[in-house]
Amino acid sequence: MPGRILIVDTVATNRIVLKAKMLAAQYVVDSCASKAEATALIANNRPDLILMNLSGTIEEQRRQCQELRRSSSAAPISIIAVGVADTSKARFAALDAGADDVLPHPINDALLLARIRSLLRVRSTSQELALRDGTSRALGFEEKRAAFEGTARVVVLTHANPYNCELAAGLKAGLRSTVQISPPADVLMSAGENVVHDLFVVDAAVHGMGQGELFGLVSDLRSRAQTRLGMQLVIVPQNTPDIAAMFLDLGADDVAPCNCDAAEITLRAKRLIARKRQHDKLRDTVRNGLNAAVTDPLTGLFNRRYVEPHLARLADQSRKTGRELAIMMIDIDHFKSVNDTYGHSAGDKVLVALANRLRENLRAIDLVARMGGEEFLIAMPGTSVTDARLAADRLRELVNTKPFDVGDDHTAIRVTVSVGVAVSGKLKAESSAISKMCDQADKALYAAKSAGRDQVAMSHSAA
Ligand code: GH3
Ligand code: MG
Ligand code: MG
Repeated sequence: MPGRILIVDTVATNRIVLKAKMLAAQYVVDSCASKAEATALIANNRPDLILMNLSGTIEEQRRQCQELRRSSSAAPISIIAVGVADTSKARFAALDAGADDVLPHPINDALLLARIRSLLRVRSTSQELALRDGTSRALGFEEKRAAFEGTARVVVLTHANPYNCELAAGLKAGLRSTVQISPPADVLMSAGENVVHDLFVVDAAVHGMGQGELFGLVSDLRSRAQTRLGMQLVIVPQNTPDIAAMFLDLGADDVAPCNCDAAEITLRAKRLIARKRQHDKLRDTVRNGLNAAVTDPLTGLFNRRYVEPHLARLADQSRKTGRELAIMMIDIDHFKSVNDTYGHSAGDKVLVALANRLRENLRAIDLVARMGGEEFLIAMPGTSVTDARLAADRLRELVNTKPFDVGDDHTAIRVTVSVGVAVSGKLKAESSAISKMCDQADKALYAAKSAGRDQVAMSHSAA
């Protein structure tokens, strides 16, 4: 379903015409004449977007927007205010009072539909991110970092003289932040550099670039890795609704006519920056949640869920380069008796300290993971049988020569480990090759246990 739209207009013929247009565009539509009816409809059948026709003076229009925003405040519903005079003052009043967008009469169909698509797109991105955030939270991965609210990184893309650019000067004063001015082509050329912008203001009202090039610029900014997350505000010539519609459909987040004053442009810019920040924050939570999903909370090592796809990648690499890959299974000896003697929390501390010793004594390219309980897996790319045996012995000694300090009374617990090692000669192409190697390492571990523990055993097929 593309979305539910509520039309609020006191004039019946307006409602009928608008409704027909919305139905033709496959939206689900409700309509009503008054604010009271709108409040009831919002409560019963929450729309995604409200199209409200405003009337009266600027002040009256401001009040109408405020009231509607208040009645829909419980849910994030987008509001488009229709019938706002084509002056910056009138637009500012409606936007400031809670409208997400404003359109003058007569309504240009192409622009109206492009606005609706753009607002619904924003909504679904926010909802999608919030949903993933919710999943992370449900799994127990709360966002802990405070939101970063540094100064916004804004760049005005224009062919205007940078020393005489009113647009940039207005934004600079309104946002109280530095505003960079750049010819459009430069920002694409420097897109490989590590500068991430919050907002691009594309000046499509000053001559210097053809229409086609400007359309290309907007979609280029939206598609390149370095710039695609930045918000885009396009300044269009007055009375060019079809061009404005095209910019929105190509990926611009907002368009404003070139007669907008500093207050209006600042308000629009602030909103876009706030939206960008909110998306950044949600994206971070998702990323942290994903990290948490593949990390063992006790030791901070990767968990079993991470191991399988990572080993598959290492195996692939080994096949391509022809270099060997070593896999070790390490299991703490008689760990149950550590718990029984010193308590479970002392056992936990041993696990953490042992994990740290392993991690600190391996190369960055080696993988260390906790497979569960007191069992660890280590994968070492580019490691021969001889080197793997030496490394395994070194790790075993690292554990058994230095007891682990745990508890307040500094009880030192002596622990030993058994290690099973398998090394690939030439890995077979089939995907089961890597799990066969893990089985071999497991069998070798079992052999090391049977042979008396505190020792390394090499898999037969590896030796
Ligand atoms: P073996 O030498 O044969 O490996 O003997 P073991 O006692 O180490 O092996 P067993 O599989 O019999 O017991 C494993 C023990 O590890 C039992 C369990 O209580 C303990 N264990 C597993 N996970 C944790 C953990 O997260 N914290 C603590 N403290 N103990 C754990
Ligand atoms: Mg054990
Ligand atoms: Mg075990």
